[in-house]
Order: sequence, then C-alpha cells, then structure tokens
Amino acid sequence: MPNYTQKTVNWILDIIFPKKCLDCNKFTHSTGSTGSRQASSGQAADFDYACRKCFGEIGLKNNLECVGCKRQTRLGFTCAFCDKFNKTDQLIITADLTDPLVEKILKAYKYKFIQSMVLPLSVLARRRVKKLLSKKFSLFGDNPLLIPVPLHKRRLNERGFNQAELLAENLADTYHLICESNILTRVANPKHQAEIKKKEERLENVKNNFRVKNIELIRSKTIILVDDICTSGATLNECARVLKESGAKRVIGFVLARGQFKK
Ligand SMILES: [Zn+2]
Ligand SMILES: [Zn+2]
Repeated sequence: MPNYTQKTVNWILDIIFPKKCLDCNKFTHSTGSTGSRQASSGQAADFDYACRKCFGEIGLKNNLECVGCKRQTRLGFTCAFCDKFNKTDQLIITADLTDPLVEKILKAYKYKFIQSMVLPLSVLARRRVKKLLSKKFSLFGDNPLLIPVPLHKRRLNERGFNQAELLAENLADTYHLICESNILTRVANPKHQAEIKKKEERLENVKNNFRVKNIELIRSKTIILVDDICTSGATLNECARVLKESGAKRVIGFVLARGQFKK
C-alpha cells in the first residue's frame, strides 16, 4: 500500500478508534506503525498507547543483578556462586516492572498482541544500551549475534509474531548487527512460565525444549539472547545451555524487564 494511502487509513482508524495513553489516559497522536521512524528515533512524537510525556518519565532499571540469585552485581554479571548452575553469563534488564507504564506496555505487547508496542520498547532498550556505554561497557563490542528466544510454532501461529524476535530485529537494525531467528528453535510447547510458581517446576518445564541448528554460525561467538521478560531465568539459562553445548563462547541475556505481572 502506498505510504499516503496507509496514512489516510491510519488517520481514519484513529478517528474511529482513538488511541489513549495507557498511563494518563489522554489521546495520543502517534505517527502510526508505518511512519514510526520518527517516533522510534526518540524524537518528539507519541507512541500509539504511550504519550510522549509519560513515556519520557520511564526510568531504566537502576541496579543490574545476577540471573541466578538476583543479588545486585556489576553490570548484571552472574555471580561466582550461581555461575556453576546458570549458563547465562550476564543479564541486562532494561526497565523496572514495578513501573506501572512499563508493565502496561509489556502486557499489551505480550498478551494483547499489539505489535506496535515494539516501538516504545525498542526505544527503552536503546536507552539501556546507551547507559551501559556510559559505564564503559560496550554490549556489542565483540560483534555478537542476536538470537531471540523462540516461540513454539503453534504459539507463533496463535500470536502472529514473536515479540522477542521483533525486538531483536529492531536492535540488530539499529546497531548493524546480525539477528539470527532460525538458529534456536523450540521443539516443545510447554506451559507459560508465568503460570508456574515454583522455581524447580519452571526449570523442569523448559528442560530440553530447545534445539540448535547451523551450529557453525555460533561457534566461538558471543550471543545476545533477547527476550521480552524473564522471571526465574530458567528459559534464558536453558537456551544458554544448548547454545554453549553447540559451541557459543558467551551468552548474555537481554530482556525488557524481570519479574511477574500483577494480576
Ligand atoms: Zn500519558
Ligand atoms: Zn548469583
């Protein structure tokens, strides 16, 4: 569809179904999903469901933590104790799930399947990367490969898109990296991790769920494993385990937030 036609369609849709900021409830004026460049570059524009003002007030997660014990560690490196049992070497968490707008945006993305939510979330992720650089840590220093945590085929069909993959692609585009969505596949379709309370059961639920294809592409590489949200870290660790068994050198988890949604 030509751009101006799409713009007209968006304009009409906005009149019929006006979008509101999930935080302050005011109507938003976004550039729409096709004209999103302006908004995603961080310039003045609302997102579909987050006004510029509320979005601008979202803070990054202050203290990064160990994937295993959740204790604060420098730059989210896995602590010496947890290192034995957790195959993720470092965990980068973008924002705090206790921020109500972060939770609402993530919920809309994950459970209401609103694809355009990837735009504000990608901007937050980029803020995170920039902040790491200010701490003299270059996340992309050794030309890592971005790999999204995969969904099972059945779940992908229900949802229409893999939220982790859209985010990984957006980051890869921005930083001129390669995103490989076909290396790691999910062979089992277990329960949602969020539905399971006990850590041991979460571990069991994801065990042997993943397979690696084209192992020559990951040999001796640093992998940035991208996901929207992590809770216990069991999924990231299981992915990291199979990636390392297939020759990956280092696995860094990169997520938008950590924790569980309030019901
Ligand atoms: Zn607002
Ligand atoms: Zn630890």
